[in-house]
Amino acid sequence: MEMNLGITERLKPILDKVTALMHDEVLNADVEFHKEVGTTGNRWSMTARQQEILETLQSKAKEQGLWNFWLTDSDKGYGLSTVEYAHLAEQMGWCVLGPQVFNCAAPDTGNMEVLERYGTAEHKEKWLEPLLQSHIRSAYLMTEPDVASSDATNLKFSAVLDGDDYVLNGEKYWSSGAGDERCKVYILMAKTAGDEAPRHSRHSMFVVPAETKGIEVLRPMMVFGHDDAPHGHMHIHFNNVRIPKSALLLGEGRGFEVSQGRLGPGRIHHCMRAIGQAERALQLMCQRGMNRTAFGKPLVKLGGNYDVIANCRIEIEQARLLCLKAAWMMDQGDMSAATPYISQIKVVAPNMALKVIDEAIQMFGGTGVSQDTPLADMYMQMRTLRFADGPDSVHRMQVARKELAQYR
Ligand SMILES: Cc1cc2nc3c(=O)[nH]c(=O)nc-3n(C[C@H](O)[C@H](O)[C@H](O)COP(=O)(O)OP(=O)(O)OC[C@H]3O[C@@H](n4cnc5c(N)ncnc54)[C@H](O)[C@@H]3O)c2cc1C
Repeated sequence: MEMNLGITERLKPILDKVTALMHDEVLNADVEFHKEVGTTGNRWSMTARQQEILETLQSKAKEQGLWNFWLTDSDKGYGLSTVEYAHLAEQMGWCVLGPQVFNCAAPDTGNMEVLERYGTAEHKEKWLEPLLQSHIRSAYLMTEPDVASSDATNLKFSAVLDGDDYVLNGEKYWSSGAGDERCKVYILMAKTAGDEAPRHSRHSMFVVPAETKGIEVLRPMMVFGHDDAPHGHMHIHFNNVRIPKSALLLGEGRGFEVSQGRLGPGRIHHCMRAIGQAERALQLMCQRGMNRTAFGKPLVKLGGNYDVIANCRIEIEQARLLCLKAAWMMDQGDMSAATPYISQIKVVAPNMALKVIDEAIQMFGGTGVSQDTPLADMYMQMRTLRFADGPDSVHRMQVARKELAQYR
Protein backbone atom coordinates (compact mmCIF):
# COMPACT_ATOMS: atom_id res chain seq x y z
CA MET A 1 0.00 0.00 0.00
CA GLU A 2 1.22 3.51 -0.79
CA MET A 3 2.69 5.18 2.27
CA ASN A 4 2.37 8.94 1.96
CA LEU A 5 4.23 10.62 4.81
CA GLY A 6 4.52 14.03 3.18
CA ILE A 7 2.66 17.33 3.43
CA THR A 8 -0.69 17.02 1.67
CA GLU A 9 -2.35 19.78 -0.35
CA ARG A 10 -4.96 20.44 2.34
CA LEU A 11 -2.31 20.50 5.08
CA LYS A 12 0.09 22.93 3.42
CA PRO A 13 -1.81 26.21 4.01
CA ILE A 14 -2.62 25.18 7.60
CA LEU A 15 0.98 24.22 8.32
CA ASP A 16 2.25 27.48 6.81
CA LYS A 17 -0.05 29.51 9.07
CA VAL A 18 0.90 27.54 12.20
CA THR A 19 4.62 27.85 11.41
CA ALA A 20 4.29 31.60 10.81
CA LEU A 21 2.41 32.23 14.07
CA MET A 22 4.90 30.08 16.02
CA HIS A 23 7.99 31.81 14.64
CA ASP A 24 6.62 35.35 14.39
CA GLU A 25 4.99 35.50 17.82
CA VAL A 26 4.69 32.42 20.00
CA LEU A 27 8.41 31.73 20.53
CA ASN A 28 9.04 35.24 21.88
CA ALA A 29 5.80 35.27 23.88
CA ASP A 30 6.83 31.96 25.50
CA VAL A 31 9.91 33.62 27.00
CA GLU A 32 7.86 36.45 28.52
CA PHE A 33 5.15 34.02 29.67
CA HIS A 34 7.59 31.92 31.66
CA LYS A 35 9.37 34.91 33.23
CA GLU A 36 6.01 35.92 34.72
CA VAL A 37 5.53 32.70 36.76
CA GLY A 38 5.01 33.47 40.43
CA THR A 39 5.48 37.23 40.12
CA THR A 40 2.19 37.82 41.95
CA GLY A 41 3.07 35.43 44.78
CA ASN A 42 0.70 32.69 43.60
CA ARG A 43 2.54 30.23 41.41
CA TRP A 44 -0.59 28.23 40.48
CA SER A 45 -2.62 30.93 38.85
CA MET A 46 -1.74 32.80 35.68
CA THR A 47 -0.81 36.45 36.15
CA ALA A 48 -2.90 39.08 34.34
CA ARG A 49 -0.08 39.45 31.80
CA GLN A 50 0.13 35.69 31.23
CA GLN A 51 -3.60 35.59 30.66
CA GLU A 52 -3.32 38.44 28.19
CA ILE A 53 -0.46 36.76 26.30
CA LEU A 54 -2.28 33.44 26.05
CA GLU A 55 -5.68 34.89 25.18
CA THR A 56 -4.24 37.17 22.50
CA LEU A 57 -2.40 34.32 20.84
CA GLN A 58 -5.37 31.96 21.16
CA SER A 59 -7.68 34.51 19.51
CA LYS A 60 -5.19 34.93 16.66
CA ALA A 61 -5.10 31.16 16.21
CA LYS A 62 -8.90 30.86 16.42
CA GLU A 63 -9.46 33.72 13.97
CA GLN A 64 -7.47 31.77 11.41
CA GLY A 65 -9.28 28.53 12.30
CA LEU A 66 -6.08 27.04 13.76
CA TRP A 67 -7.73 25.17 16.62
CA ASN A 68 -8.19 21.61 17.95
CA PHE A 69 -6.22 19.94 15.17
CA TRP A 70 -5.79 16.85 17.38
CA LEU A 71 -9.39 15.86 16.57
CA THR A 72 -8.02 13.61 13.83
CA ASP A 73 -10.42 11.49 11.85
CA SER A 74 -13.41 13.33 13.30
CA ASP A 75 -16.28 15.31 11.81
CA LYS A 76 -15.89 18.02 14.47
CA GLY A 77 -12.35 19.15 13.64
CA TYR A 78 -10.38 19.23 10.43
CA GLY A 79 -10.54 15.47 10.08
CA LEU A 80 -6.78 15.41 9.58
CA SER A 81 -4.89 12.14 9.48
CA THR A 82 -2.36 11.35 12.20
CA VAL A 83 0.43 11.89 9.65
CA GLU A 84 -0.90 15.36 8.89
CA TYR A 85 -1.22 16.11 12.59
CA ALA A 86 2.40 15.00 13.11
CA HIS A 87 3.69 17.79 10.88
CA LEU A 88 1.63 20.35 12.82
CA ALA A 89 2.55 18.98 16.25
CA GLU A 90 6.24 19.21 15.39
CA GLN A 91 5.86 22.92 14.69
CA MET A 92 3.68 23.54 17.75
CA GLY A 93 6.21 21.63 19.87
CA TRP A 94 8.98 24.20 19.42
CA CYS A 95 8.03 25.70 22.80
CA VAL A 96 5.80 24.87 25.75
CA LEU A 97 3.26 27.58 25.02
CA GLY A 98 2.86 26.48 21.38
CA PRO A 99 0.41 23.59 21.82
CA GLN A 100 -1.72 25.65 24.25
CA VAL A 101 -2.10 28.43 21.68
CA PHE A 102 -3.82 26.00 19.30
CA ASN A 103 -5.62 24.00 22.05
CA CYS A 104 -3.49 20.97 21.28
CA ALA A 105 -1.67 20.62 24.62
CA ALA A 106 -1.17 17.55 26.79
CA PRO A 107 -2.79 16.25 28.88
CA ASP A 108 -5.97 17.90 27.60
CA THR A 109 -5.89 16.43 24.11
CA GLY A 110 -5.76 12.86 25.43
CA ASN A 111 -8.46 13.60 27.98
CA MET A 112 -10.69 15.26 25.39
CA GLU A 113 -10.21 12.23 23.19
CA VAL A 114 -11.38 9.99 26.06
CA LEU A 115 -14.44 12.17 26.67
CA GLU A 116 -15.24 12.31 22.98
CA ARG A 117 -14.98 8.54 22.52
CA TYR A 118 -16.28 7.18 25.80
CA GLY A 119 -18.05 10.04 27.60
CA THR A 120 -21.81 10.29 28.12
CA ALA A 121 -23.83 13.23 26.78
CA GLU A 122 -23.57 14.78 30.24
CA HIS A 123 -19.75 14.41 30.37
CA LYS A 124 -19.51 15.97 26.96
CA GLU A 125 -21.62 18.95 27.85
CA LYS A 126 -20.03 19.54 31.24
CA TRP A 127 -16.36 18.84 30.49
CA LEU A 128 -15.65 18.28 26.80
CA GLU A 129 -17.27 21.49 25.56
CA PRO A 130 -15.31 23.84 27.89
CA LEU A 131 -12.11 21.89 27.16
CA LEU A 132 -12.68 22.26 23.42
CA GLN A 133 -12.92 26.03 24.00
CA SER A 134 -9.87 26.03 26.35
CA HIS A 135 -12.04 27.53 29.11
CA ILE A 136 -10.83 24.88 31.56
CA ARG A 137 -7.96 22.37 31.74
CA SER A 138 -7.72 18.75 32.89
CA ALA A 139 -5.36 16.10 34.31
CA TYR A 140 -4.87 12.36 33.85
CA LEU A 141 -4.41 10.41 37.09
CA MET A 142 -2.88 6.97 36.78
CA THR A 143 0.48 6.86 38.55
CA GLU A 144 0.57 6.06 42.29
CA PRO A 145 3.42 6.53 44.77
CA ASP A 146 3.18 3.09 46.38
CA VAL A 147 3.26 0.81 43.34
CA ALA A 148 5.43 0.40 40.24
CA SER A 149 3.02 2.19 37.96
CA SER A 150 4.77 1.37 34.70
CA ASP A 151 2.82 -1.88 35.13
CA ALA A 152 -0.64 -0.35 35.48
CA THR A 153 -2.16 -3.66 36.60
CA ASN A 154 -0.41 -2.87 39.92
CA LEU A 155 -2.57 0.22 40.57
CA LYS A 156 -4.37 -0.13 43.90
CA PHE A 157 -6.27 3.18 44.30
CA SER A 158 -9.80 1.93 45.04
CA ALA A 159 -13.29 2.76 43.86
CA VAL A 160 -16.09 0.96 45.71
CA LEU A 161 -19.75 1.16 44.75
CA ASP A 162 -21.91 2.33 47.65
CA GLY A 163 -25.58 2.88 46.71
CA ASP A 164 -25.60 5.26 43.75
CA ASP A 165 -22.05 6.50 44.34
CA TYR A 166 -18.52 5.25 43.91
CA VAL A 167 -16.29 6.00 46.90
CA LEU A 168 -12.68 6.77 45.98
CA ASN A 169 -9.71 6.25 48.30
CA GLY A 170 -5.98 6.42 47.68
CA GLU A 171 -3.18 8.56 46.34
CA LYS A 172 -2.08 9.61 42.90
CA TYR A 173 1.06 11.52 42.01
CA TRP A 174 2.76 13.05 38.99
CA SER A 175 -0.68 14.32 37.97
CA SER A 176 0.48 16.76 35.30
CA GLY A 177 -1.50 19.97 34.98
CA ALA A 178 -3.37 19.47 38.25
CA GLY A 179 -1.53 22.42 39.81
CA ASP A 180 -3.12 24.94 37.47
CA GLU A 181 -6.18 26.64 38.94
CA ARG A 182 -7.86 26.21 35.56
CA CYS A 183 -7.71 22.40 35.96
CA LYS A 184 -11.31 21.40 36.73
CA VAL A 185 -11.55 17.73 35.85
CA TYR A 186 -9.55 14.53 36.26
CA ILE A 187 -9.67 11.33 34.24
CA LEU A 188 -8.74 8.77 36.88
CA MET A 189 -7.99 5.04 36.90
CA ALA A 190 -9.08 3.04 39.95
CA LYS A 191 -9.30 -0.59 40.99
CA THR A 192 -12.89 -1.83 41.07
CA ALA A 193 -12.41 -5.61 41.31
CA GLY A 194 -10.36 -7.95 43.47
CA ASP A 195 -7.44 -10.12 42.47
CA GLU A 196 -9.81 -12.95 41.51
CA ALA A 197 -10.68 -11.00 38.34
CA PRO A 198 -8.37 -11.18 35.28
CA ARG A 199 -5.46 -8.69 35.60
CA HIS A 200 -6.69 -6.43 32.82
CA SER A 201 -10.30 -6.37 34.04
CA ARG A 202 -9.71 -5.13 37.58
CA HIS A 203 -9.55 -1.42 36.79
CA SER A 204 -12.03 1.22 35.63
CA MET A 205 -11.80 4.80 34.41
CA PHE A 206 -13.73 7.68 35.97
CA VAL A 207 -14.44 11.34 35.31
CA VAL A 208 -13.84 13.22 38.57
CA PRO A 209 -14.51 16.93 39.15
CA ALA A 210 -11.33 18.40 40.70
CA GLU A 211 -13.34 20.33 43.27
CA THR A 212 -15.03 17.30 44.88
CA LYS A 213 -15.06 17.07 48.69
CA GLY A 214 -12.31 14.86 50.09
CA ILE A 215 -9.70 15.66 47.41
CA GLU A 216 -6.55 17.24 48.81
CA VAL A 217 -3.59 18.34 46.70
CA LEU A 218 -0.64 17.50 48.96
CA ARG A 219 2.31 18.98 47.07
CA PRO A 220 3.80 19.63 43.67
CA MET A 221 6.35 16.99 42.66
CA MET A 222 9.62 18.70 41.83
CA VAL A 223 11.46 17.92 38.59
CA PHE A 224 15.20 18.51 39.17
CA GLY A 225 14.10 21.03 41.81
CA HIS A 226 11.44 22.77 39.66
CA ASP A 227 7.70 22.75 40.31
CA ASP A 228 6.79 23.51 36.67
CA ALA A 229 4.21 26.08 37.85
CA PRO A 230 1.51 26.92 36.97
CA HIS A 231 1.10 23.50 35.27
CA GLY A 232 2.49 21.36 38.12
CA HIS A 233 2.78 17.61 38.59
CA MET A 234 0.75 17.11 41.73
CA HIS A 235 0.60 14.55 44.51
CA ILE A 236 -3.07 14.18 45.45
CA HIS A 237 -4.83 12.41 48.30
CA PHE A 238 -8.42 11.11 48.01
CA ASN A 239 -10.29 10.47 51.24
CA ASN A 240 -13.78 8.94 50.84
CA VAL A 241 -14.45 10.99 47.72
CA ARG A 242 -17.99 10.31 46.49
CA ILE A 243 -18.78 10.52 42.80
CA PRO A 244 -21.99 9.36 41.10
CA LYS A 245 -22.20 6.05 39.23
CA SER A 246 -22.51 8.06 36.04
CA ALA A 247 -18.84 9.09 36.43
CA LEU A 248 -17.79 5.64 35.19
CA LEU A 249 -16.49 5.53 31.61
CA LEU A 250 -17.39 2.63 29.32
CA GLY A 251 -18.08 0.12 32.10
CA GLU A 252 -16.57 -1.54 35.16
CA GLY A 253 -13.35 -3.42 34.44
CA ARG A 254 -12.80 -1.62 31.13
CA GLY A 255 -10.20 0.90 32.33
CA PHE A 256 -7.45 -0.61 30.18
CA GLU A 257 -9.53 -0.26 27.04
CA VAL A 258 -9.94 3.43 27.80
CA SER A 259 -6.29 3.94 28.70
CA GLN A 260 -5.07 2.23 25.53
CA GLY A 261 -7.36 4.45 23.47
CA ARG A 262 -5.90 7.48 25.22
CA LEU A 263 -2.24 6.64 25.50
CA GLY A 264 -1.62 5.60 21.88
CA PRO A 265 -2.29 9.04 20.40
CA GLY A 266 -0.98 10.80 23.53
CA ARG A 267 2.39 9.09 23.24
CA ILE A 268 2.92 9.78 19.61
CA HIS A 269 1.92 13.43 20.08
CA HIS A 270 4.70 13.77 22.68
CA CYS A 271 7.15 12.33 20.14
CA MET A 272 6.06 14.71 17.39
CA ARG A 273 6.63 17.65 19.71
CA ALA A 274 9.99 16.19 20.82
CA ILE A 275 11.14 16.36 17.20
CA GLY A 276 10.18 20.05 17.17
CA GLN A 277 12.23 20.55 20.35
CA ALA A 278 15.22 18.87 18.71
CA GLU A 279 14.92 21.08 15.63
CA ARG A 280 14.87 24.16 17.84
CA ALA A 281 17.92 22.98 19.82
CA LEU A 282 19.84 22.31 16.59
CA GLN A 283 18.94 25.75 15.28
CA LEU A 284 20.14 27.41 18.49
CA MET A 285 23.32 25.31 18.45
CA CYS A 286 24.18 26.30 14.87
CA GLN A 287 23.44 29.98 15.43
CA ARG A 288 25.59 30.09 18.56
CA GLY A 289 28.38 28.07 17.01
CA MET A 290 28.57 30.32 13.94
CA ASN A 291 28.48 33.58 15.88
CA ARG A 292 30.93 32.95 18.72
CA THR A 293 34.68 32.65 18.28
CA ALA A 294 37.37 30.79 20.22
CA PHE A 295 40.96 29.99 19.27
CA GLY A 296 40.54 32.23 16.22
CA LYS A 297 37.64 30.31 14.70
CA PRO A 298 33.86 30.11 15.01
CA LEU A 299 32.98 27.40 17.54
CA VAL A 300 31.41 25.20 14.85
CA LYS A 301 34.81 24.81 13.19
CA LEU A 302 36.57 23.61 16.33
CA GLY A 303 37.23 20.02 17.34
CA GLY A 304 34.53 17.58 16.23
CA ASN A 305 31.70 20.12 16.07
CA TYR A 306 30.98 19.49 12.39
CA ASP A 307 30.36 15.85 13.25
CA VAL A 308 28.22 16.84 16.23
CA ILE A 309 26.00 18.98 14.01
CA ALA A 310 25.84 16.40 11.24
CA ASN A 311 24.95 13.61 13.66
CA CYS A 312 22.17 15.70 15.20
CA ARG A 313 20.70 16.38 11.75
CA ILE A 314 20.94 12.69 10.80
CA GLU A 315 19.27 11.54 14.00
CA ILE A 316 16.46 14.07 13.76
CA GLU A 317 15.68 12.93 10.21
CA GLN A 318 15.69 9.26 11.25
CA ALA A 319 13.39 9.94 14.18
CA ARG A 320 11.00 12.00 12.09
CA LEU A 321 10.63 9.23 9.54
CA LEU A 322 9.93 6.64 12.23
CA CYS A 323 7.42 8.98 13.85
CA LEU A 324 5.62 9.52 10.56
CA LYS A 325 5.60 5.79 9.89
CA ALA A 326 4.07 5.13 13.33
CA ALA A 327 1.48 7.83 12.58
CA TRP A 328 0.74 6.21 9.23
CA MET A 329 0.32 2.83 10.91
CA MET A 330 -2.24 4.43 13.25
CA ASP A 331 -4.08 5.84 10.25
CA GLN A 332 -4.50 2.32 8.85
CA GLY A 333 -6.91 1.66 11.74
CA ASP A 334 -5.30 -1.44 13.26
CA MET A 335 -4.06 -0.28 16.67
CA SER A 336 -2.49 -3.62 17.52
CA ALA A 337 -0.30 -3.39 14.40
CA ALA A 338 0.49 0.28 15.16
CA THR A 339 1.36 -0.17 18.85
CA PRO A 340 4.91 -1.56 18.41
CA TYR A 341 5.71 1.36 16.11
CA ILE A 342 4.39 3.82 18.70
CA SER A 343 6.60 2.09 21.28
CA GLN A 344 9.63 2.33 18.98
CA ILE A 345 9.24 6.05 18.47
CA LYS A 346 8.45 6.57 22.17
CA VAL A 347 11.96 5.21 22.86
CA VAL A 348 13.67 6.96 19.96
CA ALA A 349 12.24 10.51 20.00
CA PRO A 350 12.89 11.56 23.63
CA ASN A 351 16.40 9.98 23.60
CA MET A 352 17.26 11.64 20.30
CA ALA A 353 15.93 15.04 21.42
CA LEU A 354 17.71 14.74 24.75
CA LYS A 355 21.00 14.13 22.94
CA VAL A 356 20.54 17.06 20.56
CA ILE A 357 19.57 19.39 23.42
CA ASP A 358 22.60 18.18 25.40
CA GLU A 359 24.93 18.98 22.48
CA ALA A 360 23.32 22.40 22.11
CA ILE A 361 23.88 23.06 25.80
CA GLN A 362 27.52 22.10 25.34
CA MET A 363 27.94 24.51 22.40
CA PHE A 364 26.50 27.33 24.53
CA GLY A 365 28.93 26.77 27.40
CA GLY A 366 27.63 27.93 30.78
CA THR A 367 24.83 29.92 29.18
CA GLY A 368 23.38 26.61 28.00
CA VAL A 369 22.31 25.59 31.49
CA SER A 370 21.22 29.10 32.50
CA GLN A 371 17.96 31.02 32.34
CA ASP A 372 19.17 32.85 29.21
CA THR A 373 18.28 30.04 26.80
CA PRO A 374 15.30 27.64 26.77
CA LEU A 375 17.71 24.68 26.62
CA ALA A 376 17.80 23.79 30.31
CA ASP A 377 13.99 23.62 30.47
CA MET A 378 13.89 21.62 27.28
CA TYR A 379 16.43 19.17 28.71
CA MET A 380 14.38 18.76 31.86
CA GLN A 381 11.20 18.03 29.92
CA MET A 382 12.87 15.60 27.57
CA ARG A 383 14.55 13.71 30.40
CA THR A 384 11.20 13.17 32.08
CA LEU A 385 9.60 12.08 28.82
CA ARG A 386 11.76 8.97 29.09
CA PHE A 387 9.39 7.98 31.96
CA ALA A 388 6.14 9.78 31.28
CA ASP A 389 3.65 7.67 29.31
CA GLY A 390 5.82 4.63 30.00
CA PRO A 391 9.56 4.22 30.61
CA ASP A 392 11.86 3.31 27.70
CA SER A 393 12.33 -0.22 29.01
CA VAL A 394 8.60 -0.95 29.02
CA HIS A 395 8.31 0.18 25.40
CA ARG A 396 11.36 -1.90 24.48
CA MET A 397 9.61 -4.87 26.11
CA GLN A 398 6.57 -4.30 23.86
CA VAL A 399 8.76 -4.10 20.76
CA ALA A 400 10.66 -7.28 21.66
CA ARG A 401 7.45 -9.18 22.47
CA LYS A 402 6.02 -8.33 19.08
CA GLU A 403 9.27 -9.29 17.37
CA LEU A 404 9.45 -12.63 19.15
CA ALA A 405 5.77 -13.47 18.67
CA GLN A 406 6.42 -14.53 15.09
CA TYR A 407 8.79 -17.28 16.25
CA ARG A 408 6.42 -18.90 18.74
C1 LIG B 1 7.27 14.98 34.64
C2 LIG B 1 6.38 13.79 34.73
C3 LIG B 1 5.06 13.90 34.37
C4 LIG B 1 4.19 12.82 34.50
N1 LIG B 1 2.86 12.98 34.23
C5 LIG B 1 1.99 12.00 34.53
C6 LIG B 1 0.58 12.20 34.43
O1 LIG B 1 0.12 13.28 34.01
N2 LIG B 1 -0.25 11.21 34.84
C7 LIG B 1 0.21 10.03 35.30
O2 LIG B 1 -0.59 9.17 35.63
N3 LIG B 1 1.55 9.80 35.41
C8 LIG B 1 2.45 10.76 35.04
N4 LIG B 1 3.81 10.55 35.19
C9 LIG B 1 4.27 9.28 35.74
C10 LIG B 1 4.92 8.37 34.74
O3 LIG B 1 4.00 7.96 33.77
C11 LIG B 1 5.53 7.23 35.55
O4 LIG B 1 6.65 7.76 36.25
C12 LIG B 1 5.94 6.07 34.68
O5 LIG B 1 4.82 5.41 34.14
C13 LIG B 1 6.77 5.05 35.48
O6 LIG B 1 6.09 4.63 36.64
P1 LIG B 1 6.90 4.70 38.03
O7 LIG B 1 7.43 6.05 38.22
O8 LIG B 1 6.03 4.10 39.07
O9 LIG B 1 8.17 3.78 37.79
P2 LIG B 1 8.29 2.21 38.06
O10 LIG B 1 7.10 1.50 37.53
O11 LIG B 1 8.63 2.03 39.49
O12 LIG B 1 9.53 1.86 37.13
C14 LIG B 1 10.85 2.31 37.49
C15 LIG B 1 11.87 1.74 36.56
O13 LIG B 1 11.81 0.30 36.57
C16 LIG B 1 12.34 -0.18 35.37
N5 LIG B 1 11.38 -1.05 34.69
C17 LIG B 1 10.03 -1.05 34.78
N6 LIG B 1 9.49 -1.96 33.95
C18 LIG B 1 10.53 -2.53 33.29
C19 LIG B 1 10.65 -3.52 32.30
N7 LIG B 1 9.57 -4.11 31.78
N8 LIG B 1 11.88 -3.87 31.86
C20 LIG B 1 13.01 -3.29 32.38
N9 LIG B 1 12.95 -2.34 33.33
C21 LIG B 1 11.75 -1.97 33.78
C22 LIG B 1 12.60 1.03 34.47
O14 LIG B 1 13.95 1.42 34.54
C23 LIG B 1 11.69 2.07 35.07
O15 LIG B 1 12.08 3.40 34.74
C24 LIG B 1 4.70 11.59 35.00
C25 LIG B 1 6.04 11.47 35.32
C26 LIG B 1 6.89 12.55 35.21
C27 LIG B 1 8.33 12.39 35.63
